[in-house]
Amino acid sequence: MNEENQMEIHLAYCAGCDRQVKVVVDPEVAKAGREPTAADLICLEHGTACTGQLCPIFGVPSEEMERRYGSLLSRARKGEA
Ligand code: SF4
Repeated sequence: MNEENQMEIHLAYCAGCDRQVKVVVDPEVAKAGREPTAADLICLEHGTACTGQLCPIFGVPSEEMERRYGSLLSRARKGEA
């Protein structure tokens, strides 16, 4: 990952695991030059502390956040994120 496409990491409180978690906006948003939506947010701690079937911060099923996280990791490994 080079300096140009470094992701900005934010902290958000997750009521599901009662602590702060690291969150990023999908880097595709900046590349597209548009404003982020709720669908562009990715929790970097998915799977390490999730306790329920619904992510309380993003209001999506746990599987959806897993899909977003997996996609981000896959692109990062290819140098695309
Ligand atoms: S994906 Fe899991 S750890 Fe992240 S905010 Fe949602 S419930 Fe919490």
